[in-house]
Parts: sequence; C-alpha cells; structure tokens
Amino acid sequence: MLIGVLGAGQLGMMLAQAGKPLGMRFRFLDPAPDSPAASCGEHVIAPYQDAGALAAFSRGLNFATWEFENVPCEAVRRLADRVPVRPSVGLLELAQDRLLEKRAFAEVGLRTARHLPISSRLDLREALREIGVPSILKTRRMGYDGKGQFFLRAMEDADRAWSELGEGRQEPELILEGFVEFEREVSLIACRGVRGTAGEKNAIVFYSMPTNTHRAGILRVSRVGAGAEVPADLEAAARSAMTSLLEAFDYIGVLAIEFFVVNGLSGRVLVANEMAPRVHNSGHWSIEGCKASQFENHCRAVAGMDLASPSMMAPAAAMVNIVGQEPDAAELKRIPGATVHMYGKAPRAGRKLGHVTIVGEAEEVDEGVRLATRLAGMRPDRV
Ligand code: AMP
Repeated sequence: MLIGVLGAGQLGMMLAQAGKPLGMRFRFLDPAPDSPAASCGEHVIAPYQDAGALAAFSRGLNFATWEFENVPCEAVRRLADRVPVRPSVGLLELAQDRLLEKRAFAEVGLRTARHLPISSRLDLREALREIGVPSILKTRRMGYDGKGQFFLRAMEDADRAWSELGEGRQEPELILEGFVEFEREVSLIACRGVRGTAGEKNAIVFYSMPTNTHRAGILRVSRVGAGAEVPADLEAAARSAMTSLLEAFDYIGVLAIEFFVVNGLSGRVLVANEMAPRVHNSGHWSIEGCKASQFENHCRAVAGMDLASPSMMAPAAAMVNIVGQEPDAAELKRIPGATVHMYGKAPRAGRKLGHVTIVGEAEEVDEGVRLATRLAGMRPDRV
C-alpha cells in the first residue's frame, strides 16, 4: 500500500516508521530537499502548489494525508480529486486561521481567550482598550512554535507590535488575544477511524492527556500518566468537545487540541488555545509509551484499517524535546526508560532536532525528565 504525505518533516518520518510494519510504503511531497522524511520513502521535491508535481506525486497512491499543517488547502483539494485524502480538508482550513479556529471551538462549547480580529493600527488600539494587557498579538495564519506573535506588556507596546506584525503587509490579518493566566497547559490527542479497535464504524480512540511545558512558544516537555493526571471532569469535557469536532467534520485521522487549565472562581476550567489537524508533538511519547502510537493510529485511519489500542505501556511517560543544539545522545540513552529520536536536522536556534521518550514508574519518569532537560540544554526548573 502506497501512502502519500504532504510534508516530509519529522512528523512524516515518524508516520513512515509506524506505517512500515503495517505494510505501507510512503511518498512525500515537500519543497525542501533535505527533509527528515526524505530517507523514509520516495521524495518529490516541488512546491505544494505545483499542479504537475502534484499529479506526478499522486500517481499510484492508495491514500494521502498531510503532516504539515500549513500545507495550502488548494493543494489538498487538488490531490483529493485524484486519490482519497484523509482527513478531509474542512478542519485544516479552520485550523489555519486562528479566528476561524476560535469560532469552531465556541461552536462545540469550548471557552477561548478573549480575542478580536485586527487589520489596522486603529483596530489594535481599540482592541487593546477592550482586552487590555498583558495580551498577545498574533498573525491569524502561518504561525507556529511561537512565530508570528508579539507579547504586549504595556499599552505603549502597541506601536512596536504593529510595526513587527502588521506594518507593510498588504492586508494584515491579525488577532489580539488576552493573556490567559493558566495553571498549566494540557492537550488532547484523539484518532477517529473508519473503523475502531473492534471494527466498529467511525470509532474514536483517545490518548491520555499530557501536561505540556512551553518556552518561548516552543513545546519543551510533555508529561503523562501517574504524577501528571488531568482531573477527570476536565478530561471528559475535552473528550466531549473533541468528539463533536471530529463528528461534525467527518474527520478521519489524528486531531490534537491544546488547552490552558485555568483555576477560576468556579473551579478549574479548560480554555482552548489551538488545534492541530495532524499528529502532534505533545503525542510523541506515545511511540514507546502506548500499545499503538498516534503515528500508527493515524496511518491505520488514513488506510481505513481498524484502529489499535492507545492504552499506556507503563504508569507514566514523558517526552522531552531537543531544541536548537545537539545534545550528548549517548548520555541521553543512558537515562533509564529513555529512547532517543533524532530527526537528522542541522542545529539552528529554536529548531526541533529530536526528542527523548521516557517510559516507566512516575518517579523514574520525573527523574528522567530532569536529566533529559539538563542534557538538552535547558535548566530543569525553567522548562
Ligand atoms: P500558540 O502558537 O498559540 O500555541 O502559542 C504557543 C504558546 O504560547 C502556548 O502554548 C502558550 O504557552 C503561549 N500562549 C499563546 N497564547 C497565549 C495566551 N492567549 N495566553 C497565555 N499564553 C499563551
């Protein structure tokens, strides 16, 4: 079975690693010649919008999917004229625009940060009067890993924020979000299949919810299971909203939603931040941490196979991202319960170069996270 993937980054690489034992072969489309997934299958090097390249890419594919969330929707639609593409493009379109994304969240009953669309300096001034500081000005599209964001501490930051993100753009499409004073960040990763683990129609499997730590907008650590449990009522609320979204869009594949946990007057509540209509960094621990990883289940869903169990292999698991600088991989491998994944990318500030998964008892995983964050060049108390 030949699966086409738009994008050939590390997510594509890990999809291929999970799909091969299922008898799948992979072909990637990505304009960057030195992409991490290039060695995991065929690699068509061309822009996503290149109609000729898309046609050549699609020839002989059984199914197609994407691993890069900013892939042009038009390319997905063109591809879908030729081969079955899963998931369908609907939720991708919303996830690419922070304003539409927040509206979709509201429709399934999820709270979001206070926000207003911004397309001029005047809009920003007025929105700041309403939302206040601290707040974050973000581009509505093409932002990831903290890119395209400006943190406003004081009203006087408005001009700098505007000149950084708005000025000089033809039609600036920005959003101002109130800063959410969160207790912690968590995410929910689910996979909806054509069939579930027992062959039942359109079933959904849920992974345990990780608690996620970011720095400078980049995910650093995800910790799941014993010692990092998410309160059951919050998990139930997240699952219910996730189910509504997946079903409303007849979505097939992995979807991730990131949340803030806010401890308010009426107790703890979830505030939805963003969604990723693809396999997600906060689910990488599932490779060694679960019977079937998010990558395996995404492959299974795309190919219309039964899903497999997402249950955990041990009481606790974690993932530590390796960002910006190469660590001492040999030292990392010595951490009990650890598995090191490197993506073969050249080091660059803020770039995700690999990750470490740690699986075991809660104390072992906590200790592993401490060691791995230090070896990855982060101060453990500051992740
Ligand atoms: P994003 O690209 O929107 O996922 O933002 C990356 C990270 O920045 C989030 O995971 C949070 O740690 C932080 N962040 C983004 N938006 C907000 C917000 N409105 N309030 C508080 N923190 C935020």
